[in-house]
Amino acid sequence: MNYFPLFFDLTAQKVLVVGAGEVALRKVNLLVRCGASVHVVAPHIHPELLQHASSGSIKLAIREFVPEDLAGARLVIVATSHRALNRWIANLSESRAIPVNVVDDREASRFIVPAIVDRGPVLIAVGTSGTSPVLARRLRERLEALVPKRIGAAALWLRSLRAAAKKQLRDLDARRRYFESVIDGPAMHRFIDGDEQGARRIAQQLLSRSSTTPAAAGDVTLVGAGPGDAELLTLKALRALQDADVILHDRLVSNAVLDMARRDAERICVGKAAGSHGSTQQEINELLLRYASAGKRVVRLKGGDPFIFGRGGEELEALAKARINFSVIPGITAAAGCAAYAGIPLTHRDYAHSVTFVTGHADKTGKEPDWRALAAQGSTAVFYMGLARLEYIVAKLVAHGASQELPAALIVHGTLPQQRVIVATLATLADTAARAKLESPVLLVVGEVVALHESLAWFGGAESADVSQSA
Ligand code: SAH
Repeated sequence: MNYFPLFFDLTAQKVLVVGAGEVALRKVNLLVRCGASVHVVAPHIHPELLQHASSGSIKLAIREFVPEDLAGARLVIVATSHRALNRWIANLSESRAIPVNVVDDREASRFIVPAIVDRGPVLIAVGTSGTSPVLARRLRERLEALVPKRIGAAALWLRSLRAAAKKQLRDLDARRRYFESVIDGPAMHRFIDGDEQGARRIAQQLLSRSSTTPAAAGDVTLVGAGPGDAELLTLKALRALQDADVILHDRLVSNAVLDMARRDAERICVGKAAGSHGSTQQEINELLLRYASAGKRVVRLKGGDPFIFGRGGEELEALAKARINFSVIPGITAAAGCAAYAGIPLTHRDYAHSVTFVTGHADKTGKEPDWRALAAQGSTAVFYMGLARLEYIVAKLVAHGASQELPAALIVHGTLPQQRVIVATLATLADTAARAKLESPVLLVVGEVVALHESLAWFGGAESADVSQSA
């Protein structure tokens, strides 16, 4: 069974559908959308089909099928629940050389209908030659997730660019290169993301540049990689990783996330794990500029969310100054990811009405956070990069009114299989941490909500309880 794939223009063509149940209804809906002239024959009719008929979008014959129904039909779809009847109609259609599909009966069918991802005018069809409709459906679902919702609108937009391109670029090759640079680059991304003005502007830049030099302009996407579990990537982040030429990533980004990237993308670790000697910010900015100016699609991949203690803002400032196009894809920040996987709601109507994300690092100007607010009852404080100054943080909180008994959690490698959650009180936290021999990254959560961990923990083993009990 080798099938020839094709897209069939059925505008105003007669298509006969025999049967009028659920299955027939789905086919009819699709046929109507294609502009076919749909004739339905069946003694019992699904109410929605009756509506279709009364609005004039299909023709209905409420009776048994008769061979004369086939007259003039370009396609036949048979969907009654009687196998023998289906096969008889299929044979009749065959003898008149009218392509026929019998729903759920591949052998009796001349053509079969693929599973589709419909982003009109873009249509992706998936078939398994009838070997496994379930597999076809699963593949379709994966494509659904992968193919941007606005790809159809983008196709129409690309068509609208053709006239101007034809006028300005006489050479066929130059036009092809121009469209490649639109589709593969930031213009298309902007359009897909809903920024049509930005897309038009970049496409216009490309067009005026293409008529002089063919090189495409690169761009930088600042991407949040989430806290660790690769499945916490957003769909947009996944797409950016699969489109990238170069990926500059922090050490914090897990291998599982990097495995999602396009295989032949160049990967550069510009890691800046606390205390290690990664590239300086200046060096990272220069790398970004260098690759983007060479026309590459650069992904700058950061743990968590790029705008939360990620210095994403500083990198974008450098790009803006150099007039390089950029965009930002947010990620799940460590506080949200770790709290979820530790079963610690960061706010709760009974325990906390606010949550503050704060860096545990010393500020280079010596400025202190608002310790009183962080220590206040009814609030949750989440410390990023807090491990090195754990004792200092605890002392400050207590000095500003927090109870020694206030619960605190250290979440290590949050959201990853090796996640550990260590619960203590402010009084016992430093000792407990010293004994637990923590590796970074570690997130510190302080507040009454931490007590909920005991009943809401759902991810990973119970090691955390042992450590806290022995404290
Ligand atoms: N932009 C990142 C934060 C970078 S600062 C974000 O939005 O999450 C680095 C700090 O984040 C680490 O020191 C640690 O406190 C925290 N962190 C990041 N990922 C973590 C993880 N999987 N588990 C625990 N803490 C994490």
